[in-house]
Amino acid sequence: MQQNTAAQIKLVKMTTNIPPIKVRPDVLAVPSYRQGKAPARLGYKLSSNENPFEPLPVVLEAIRARTDFNRYTAADVTLLRETIAATENQRLQQNLTESDTRTLEADSVHVLGTGSVAILYQLIGATCAIGSNYVYAWPSFEAYPLLGTVPGATPKPVPLDAAGRHNLQAMAEAIDNKTGAVLLCSPNNPTGPAITAAEFHEFMSKVPTDTLVVLDEAYAEFVTDPHAIDGTTALNKYQNLVVLRTFAKAQGLAGLRLGYGFAAPELWQAVAPAAIPMSINALSEAAALAALTPSGQQQMRSRVATLIARRTELITGFTALGLNVPDTQGNFVWIAEKELQKTAVCGNPTAVDYAAKLAEQGILVRPFIGHGVRISVAEAESINAVLQATAAYLKQETK
Ligand SMILES: *Cc1c(COP(=O)(O)O)cnc(C)c1O
Repeated sequence: MQQNTAAQIKLVKMTTNIPPIKVRPDVLAVPSYRQGKAPARLGYKLSSNENPFEPLPVVLEAIRARTDFNRYTAADVTLLRETIAATENQRLQQNLTESDTRTLEADSVHVLGTGSVAILYQLIGATCAIGSNYVYAWPSFEAYPLLGTVPGATPKPVPLDAAGRHNLQAMAEAIDNKTGAVLLCSPNNPTGPAITAAEFHEFMSKVPTDTLVVLDEAYAEFVTDPHAIDGTTALNKYQNLVVLRTFAKAQGLAGLRLGYGFAAPELWQAVAPAAIPMSINALSEAAALAALTPSGQQQMRSRVATLIARRTELITGFTALGLNVPDTQGNFVWIAEKELQKTAVCGNPTAVDYAAKLAEQGILVRPFIGHGVRISVAEAESINAVLQATAAYLKQETK
């Protein structure tokens, strides 16, 4: 029986690039994602901005306690949305002056399984059609260029400025009457800077009020710059704004795939048909509720503080090596390819070459071809390992 199955699988294995079914030519034209080669031994995985800390005990406890998997989760996950709203209200009350305090209700919260990337797909699917475009900065989150594939919408990337920041002036100019959505990433993955509140409000004043603006704040918890836009404080001003957050990064639950967003309830109602129904699984729901308890949040904040201290260490170390790195408000640091080339004493360093040399030493980082390299802030020991490997690379000792 076992052998039979294996033989059958062999038989249907594709021998050509011609797909066995009719597939849209524009979908076929998208190059398939090629995962980087795994290093021979893995010391540190600094390539996906993951949280190096294991899930909190309260989270693991809640997952163990959940057993009702014969049932669907409640379709509207009311308790989770209420808890997210209450947690965010509390954070806002601690951070804000009276004048800008507002209260978020559960119906301004949307939660979706498979991460905030799923909400991005939903939003682009609901706002863009064939012939539409959507505007975003580049380099930015690697999922953005793919979001338009199925709706048939054209990606409109707008280059970042020399400091790795959004060029909001150029982005505003890129918006036309075919623009279905604008994506802002703050802090910007992979370069690090956050959009300031002043920049954000000025940009919003130039966007048509019926055009969706997504402010992707996947790294919100790591922001220390007091001038950075804090998305949820802007919600009562803009009916066309979605603020996206995730449990994947600071909350350390990347593998459970849960993302959420804040917006006007009417906006969520309008885009509801574009979501995959019932996509939240019970384990993620249980874990998120545990993570959002006061003790869960307190432990999360203390871990984030540790990672922010390591971020400073990494920046200080790179600066000492002569590398100029942009301000970073996330759990990652960016080295532009130009900086590598300016600083290395010999050879012709590229982002890909530098990443490959680090991989030889078991350090996985994320190269953006022709642009630079993003390095996640993770284990305490990874900081020195990266700095030493980089120092050697700049002297080309690793060649
Ligand atoms: C990691 C990341 C996300 C998505 O994370 P999910 O795991 O899908 O919740 C979204 N936006 C940016 C900018 C990210 O870096």
